[in-house]
Amino acid sequence: MKIEIINTGSELLLGTTLNTHGAWMGTELMGLGLRVQRQTTVPDGDAIIAALTEALERSDVVIVTGGIGPTSDDICREAAAAVLGVDLIYDEAALRSLEAFFASRGRPMAESNRKQALNPVGADILPNPNGTAPGIYAPPRMSGDRLCALFLLPGPPSEMKPMFREEVTPRLRSLAGVESDHTLQILRFTGIGESDFHEGLDVELSTIDDLEVGYCARPAEVDLRLIGNAESVSKAAVMAQTAFAHQCFSTCDESLEQVVVRILTEQNKKLSLAESCTGGRIASRVTDVSGSSAVFTHGFVTYANEAKVEMIGVDADLIDTHGAVSEEVALAMAEGALKKSGADISASVTGIAGPTGGTEDKPVGTVWIGIATPTKSYAIHRCHNRGREIFKQVVSQTALDLIRKELLSDQT
Ligand code: ATP
Ligand code: MG
Repeated sequence: MKIEIINTGSELLLGTTLNTHGAWMGTELMGLGLRVQRQTTVPDGDAIIAALTEALERSDVVIVTGGIGPTSDDICREAAAAVLGVDLIYDEAALRSLEAFFASRGRPMAESNRKQALNPVGADILPNPNGTAPGIYAPPRMSGDRLCALFLLPGPPSEMKPMFREEVTPRLRSLAGVESDHTLQILRFTGIGESDFHEGLDVELSTIDDLEVGYCARPAEVDLRLIGNAESVSKAAVMAQTAFAHQCFSTCDESLEQVVVRILTEQNKKLSLAESCTGGRIASRVTDVSGSSAVFTHGFVTYANEAKVEMIGVDADLIDTHGAVSEEVALAMAEGALKKSGADISASVTGIAGPTGGTEDKPVGTVWIGIATPTKSYAIHRCHNRGREIFKQVVSQTALDLIRKELLSDQT
């Protein structure tokens, strides 16, 4: 089934509003095993008629968003009626529900709102409990030989999304003959690259029927997307987890920081951090997670050498002897943060983000990441010379993964 989306609104092309509808609908449709074939963005005005005319010719379903409000630039209703070759008439039930909407808010209904109850003859009104503009559904027969179904949905995401789920999804399901839901599962990995999957897993996964596999690579992370029937997806998930047991940090689309906070919560442990080159990025990621206040105590941003000495008691001689970016200082930072905070586990990072500051011994990208618990401490060395932004993200990812692994190893 060819599904096409038309997003209307000059603001989407001026760049003042980010067009998020297509991405959101793509994910919703994926859950039904359906795909969007094409997405077009057009400004308010006559371009809508041209886009609609073309789309009805080539697609089975066209979903239009925006342009059904009360203002003069909202012309999608008129455009749809013109393209379908039918008149617009007032829908009595829609008029009454508009009046009720305004009455419930104690506001008079403006004359311009009446036009929101106009409906192309033969089309269904889609109720909008979250706003004034009802949606419209013109079934395939209304487009004659083209046999294309047409939906008009409101622009505001808070109105469009519930209407999509309540009104569009069931109709698409019956149009497409979707009987059982397709399952979507996202597994997340760190510490391996996309190519490792191609070599290690793709062939195995290709033996599973009714399964679509996709990858999404980000800095220090690869997401594996599995779509298919429930049995195929769960078989594939087990395969992927078995192949990369140490690198798979989530099987349900959690971020690494969410996983770390979840494990800390489960183990009733507290975390503190001592960050130099990441400037608080790890603390920021941890505190993005709701519930982190129960498990995160201190984030020391010890950027200058004096801060390392004053705030977390790193020995100044250690810095003089080995340099701030060294195994010794990373260890002293993690141990110092642990002592100061009284946490159960501490992590530290010290490195050279660049582009300046590198030496022959310690090139740009060099980083030491330390872990301290009451019973042990250790540090690992990495080199990521890929620009400051990616450096900070990758280092924070590596540190969070080290915390995750330490917490899990401590369980056994
Ligand atoms: P209204 O009653 O608000 O006029 P409408 O159905 O005519 O509703 P628009 O005027 O096109 O819709 O859009 C209303 C608001 O919805 C926009 O200001 C914008 O914030 C948001 N919006 C519209 N289209 C999109 C989109 N594709 N992605 C994200 N937000 C959008
Ligand atoms: Mg509008």
